[in-house]
Amino acid sequence: MPISAPTGSLRLLPEPRRARLPGFRSDAAHMPHRKGIFAARRVLAGLLFSTLLTGPVMAQHAAHHPEHPATQPPVQHPVPNTAAAHHEAHADAPGAVHPFRLGNLEAWSLKDSDIALPLGATRTPWNDPSIPAILTSAGLAPDAIPLSNQPLLLRGEGRVVLIDTGAGSSPGAPGGLQTALAAAGVCADDVTDVLITDYLDRHLLGLLTPEGGLAFPNAQVHIPEEDWEAMLPYPGDAALVAAVTPNVAPFKPGAVITPNITAVPLAGHTESHTGYEIVSGSDRLLYVGDALHTPLISVAHPEWTNTWDRDEAAGVATRQALLARAARENLRLFSGHFPWPGVGRVETSGAGYVWRPER
Ligand SMILES: [Zn+2]
Repeated sequence: MPISAPTGSLRLLPEPRRARLPGFRSDAAHMPHRKGIFAARRVLAGLLFSTLLTGPVMAQHAAHHPEHPATQPPVQHPVPNTAAAHHEAHADAPGAVHPFRLGNLEAWSLKDSDIALPLGATRTPWNDPSIPAILTSAGLAPDAIPLSNQPLLLRGEGRVVLIDTGAGSSPGAPGGLQTALAAAGVCADDVTDVLITDYLDRHLLGLLTPEGGLAFPNAQVHIPEEDWEAMLPYPGDAALVAAVTPNVAPFKPGAVITPNITAVPLAGHTESHTGYEIVSGSDRLLYVGDALHTPLISVAHPEWTNTWDRDEAAGVATRQALLARAARENLRLFSGHFPWPGVGRVETSGAGYVWRPER
């Protein structure tokens, strides 16, 4: 049955997710530090997350904002943090592609969209008074935090895998994913697997075409089980759920998704927020999802909470464990929100960490 309307207009209402939080009444959003207890399976999931997160995941804070703002203009003149990236600034518009290799796999960063988070707005998840100075020192305008939105495409060993799907046809933020996919020479019909990191808008709205049909009709859609279950009763997701249900393959924490890709629980951002570790030949890369949003804050100040995280304490613990591992192992990372194209590594710097993009 065709889906008559995309879900974007419903999904992007302010604070659309609060009703999902089990154990919270609708007034939970007005009680920022009210805590609830994770269900037993959620605790188990946290315990299973032994490679990255050392503490149990016990408490969940009410989230009071959607992960990303509803409508906003694209960043007009993004000023990346390195001279090399600045040289490439013209090439980071929605629809751009950045190819690289990962063992036997071809990989592309696919530019979907830009996100600007104006300071002082309730949509900004951080509110530390030092943020304007941090932005200025990075060569950015002091009044907004810029994020990129770039899914990752992998092709090889018999599969075409897309990790996250961008903003789709969201009002005010038309995604460039399909343009980028075409620029990479890949047809949407050829995508065999779509991997989702969490249920928040700008990761999965690209699952649907503007008409509400399946954007990747032949792909199995892999979604962390708890996030999928959290979507089911949410009215704003009804059309999306109806469209993708026949193709959805929910998975448990730590699942092997393809012979090359393993799900890595990165608890905190959502109920079962998940990264993906990709191994091919002697190459390894970790897709970090929303464990890290911007190097200026997430890498430089991993101890800072943000109101996008459902469980702020778990979010901090996940960031710190992730950065420690990445620096220790010189692990190649892919971030869907770091400055384009989002590929690089972290190094220790003094008592903290610094992001080293590949270009
Ligand atoms: Zn995100």
